[in-house]
Amino acid sequence: MNYISTRNNNIKVSSAYAIAHGISTEGGLYVPESIPQLDENDISNLIELDYIGKAEYILKKYLTDFTDEEIGACVRGAYTGSFDDEKPAAIAQLGDSINILELWHGPTCAFKDLALQLLPYLLTTSTKKVSDGKKTVILVATSGDTGKAALEGFRDVENTEIIVFYPSEGVSPMQKLQMDSQKGNNVHVCAIKGNFDDAQSGVKKIFTDNAIKETLAKSGMEFSSANSINWGRLVPQIIYYISAYCDMIAKGDDLSKGFNVVVPTGNFGNILAAYYAKEMGVPVNKLICASNANRVLTDFINTGVYDRNREFYTTMSPSMDILISSNLERMLYILSDCDDKYISNLQSELASAGKFTVNDTVLAKLQNLFYGACCDDEGTLKTIKNTFDKFGYLCDTHTAVAVNAYEQYIEDTNDKRPVLIASTASPYKFAKSVLSALSTDIPKSEFDTVDALSELTGTTVPAPLAELKDATARFKDIYDKNDMYNALCKCLKIK
Ligand SMILES: *Cc1c(COP(=O)(O)O)cnc(C)c1O
Repeated sequence: MNYISTRNNNIKVSSAYAIAHGISTEGGLYVPESIPQLDENDISNLIELDYIGKAEYILKKYLTDFTDEEIGACVRGAYTGSFDDEKPAAIAQLGDSINILELWHGPTCAFKDLALQLLPYLLTTSTKKVSDGKKTVILVATSGDTGKAALEGFRDVENTEIIVFYPSEGVSPMQKLQMDSQKGNNVHVCAIKGNFDDAQSGVKKIFTDNAIKETLAKSGMEFSSANSINWGRLVPQIIYYISAYCDMIAKGDDLSKGFNVVVPTGNFGNILAAYYAKEMGVPVNKLICASNANRVLTDFINTGVYDRNREFYTTMSPSMDILISSNLERMLYILSDCDDKYISNLQSELASAGKFTVNDTVLAKLQNLFYGACCDDEGTLKTIKNTFDKFGYLCDTHTAVAVNAYEQYIEDTNDKRPVLIASTASPYKFAKSVLSALSTDIPKSEFDTVDALSELTGTTVPAPLAELKDATARFKDIYDKNDMYNALCKCLKIK
């Protein structure tokens, strides 16, 4: 199985190369040249396997340049001991036909753990194959969730160093404490005086600076990236949609007409993984793309016009506060029948004018696959309350956006098929917003809020968040935004 760049069909690489490099040199994203198929036999085999077994089975179809032993070691390393009950993707059922796919039982209580626990293993295995074992330096700019999940994933992984930059005033108190108290001998956390964009452009500048690259190479190191355009982050996400399908069969859901999938979407990575699962043979009917007030994708699905020239809203579902959904490029590449020139043109329009319009053929295919809906913070709060009142189920702000979008879909179509809603974070990660949906009495401190939420709802605080109460900050340095390179040198002990 080769991987092709979305912006140049002549570029074909192995999966190890795609994962080690993240992005193609001309800016394209790597996609598999074909989508492996699962027949009935595969599904009956998969149903018998635990999550680790399923992950091995599916990865073998995509990472054909990895040996079976390598794949086995990667998935065991990622998914043994790091998720509650060894169940990374358990389903909670609400009523008769609503399945909530809880993707937040990992070390940082958000769905990014599913991919970021596995990526470090895929990456180190890949670099051994394609860049003769140089030490990999992972740079991350984060507004919260990605940074912590990447730190946990790469913590003490052999032959890697990870440096996370975050805006000192731009993350929640819980996220700040999660990162500053991070354990591990290869982890580095630097707060930046500035906002998320400053952190991100600082990282990009370091990443693309040839002189810095050379300095690193002299010390036997090279950069790589852990963000969601890396195929190594996407492929782990396909696994849980297939696993959920197996679980729905096992519990006897009526899947004769297929089922719908709802995904709270930011960068379009998670929902793209659901699309891949569908194309592999999972009987998904509609892919429902849920957005918050930053409704650029809802508008795109409804009109075919992608336009980032609009007000940016800071919402209570911050991981979806995004106006450029990078992984959409992969979807458009597939929908345009792999027209690399067309994709290059769309992307340069996006870079220069901040917008593009897709042609009618692509739009028709897009609307056939997807349904787009969005809600603002007020809708999010209402949905958290209604879902709790109706089902006794507590969901976080991101998941609530998905539930809200699903209700709109039902209203619009009256489609009675079973549904799978991706739940992307523990409600305790956003305790203040979640509690404010249910009560007007909000304590001042973060941990009092967490306790109040637990008391009011009778739900348990996840251990990784409860433990933070006694955590002490290890990383205290705050750097000027123009001083990120010096911070990096200090972390890596290079000059
Ligand atoms: C990252 C994130 C999302 C968005 O996922 P994408 O793959 O970027 O679409 C949704 N919810 C939570 C809690 C997240 O951390």
